[in-house]
Amino acid sequence: MKSYRKELWFNVPTRRGFLNITPQVREAILESGVTEGLCLVNSMHITSSVFINDDESGLHEDYEKWLEKLAPHAPINQYKHNNTGEDNGDAHLKRQVMGREVVTAITKGDLDFGPWEQIFYGEFDGKRRKRVLIKIIGE
Ligand code: ZN
Repeated sequence: MKSYRKELWFNVPTRRGFLNITPQVREAILESGVTEGLCLVNSMHITSSVFINDDESGLHEDYEKWLEKLAPHAPINQYKHNNTGEDNGDAHLKRQVMGREVVTAITKGDLDFGPWEQIFYGEFDGKRRKRVLIKIIGE
């Protein structure tokens, strides 16, 4: 069995944002040499997410509105977490809803995806360098 590990680094210039990271994951699969196996992609931070959905700008605006309704950033004193001096109480909650990781099948050396599936990095507390882990196993 082959095993391959790679980190992707991001620095989203805004507090929140969504990045399509499917090309970087495909590149990692090529680098791994794995043609049949599994690929795990996870955020290494507790205020950002990795998830699969459609690459559609309207949908990303809908997420932004929906997440701000569920866990508004302001006022920051509404979160006990922010009593520590942080201001990212909302980002912890948004990440919980959007998820930590995805696991995808690798078939014939590529992501075995449905027609609209794409992998996204969801940032909820940006303006700093953060990491995503890719782990690929198979043969
Ligand atoms: Zn925090």
